[in-house]
Amino acid sequence: MKIAILSVQGAFIEHEKMLSRLGVQSFEIRNKRDLEQEFDGLILPGGESTVMGKLLKELDLFDTLKRKIEEGLPVLGTCAGLILLAERLSNDENIYFGTLPVTVRRNAYGKQLSSFYVEAEVAGVGKIPMNFIRAPYVESIGADTEVIAKVDGNIVGVKYHNQIGVSFHPEVTECTGLHEYFLNLCQSYSLT
Ligand code: GLN
Repeated sequence: MKIAILSVQGAFIEHEKMLSRLGVQSFEIRNKRDLEQEFDGLILPGGESTVMGKLLKELDLFDTLKRKIEEGLPVLGTCAGLILLAERLSNDENIYFGTLPVTVRRNAYGKQLSSFYVEAEVAGVGKIPMNFIRAPYVESIGADTEVIAKVDGNIVGVKYHNQIGVSFHPEVTECTGLHEYFLNLCQSYSLT
């Protein structure tokens, strides 16, 4: 099994480290040639969604990745990665892949609470540590979208078929639970 990690900006190295701890092969997507190889899953890391969105287009990665997600490639979007997947942003005119039927609010916790840590339940995973860094949250979900995590009444984790989006950064903790959950999805995909 091989996982692609979008590596044009943001916290991609932490995802690589997490996957290597789990003994899973990964590689960085930095340019169009990186997309020539086969892979079983895609990680969109945290960072700055506006910068990543712009680079995705400039580096001509956008259309291929969008098509692969639409065709069923498992994808995990963390923080800015969730923003890239969202069908709608309530406080931003941009839309990136728009493949995940949710409305997301960027920087939803405001300045006072820009970074915080909690432990909370993720459906199918259990209680895990969550680091929020200028995090978005999900304001509403479309049909068929499953809420997998909530913190203080706000939706911070969703799943829609092959797509998982979380507001927090699971890759900066010691806990491998969410990555294992994602890899299970990739495993079933690679067998089809
Ligand atoms: N605030 C960032 C954005 O809007 C996301 C922050 C993060 O990924 N840690 O893109």
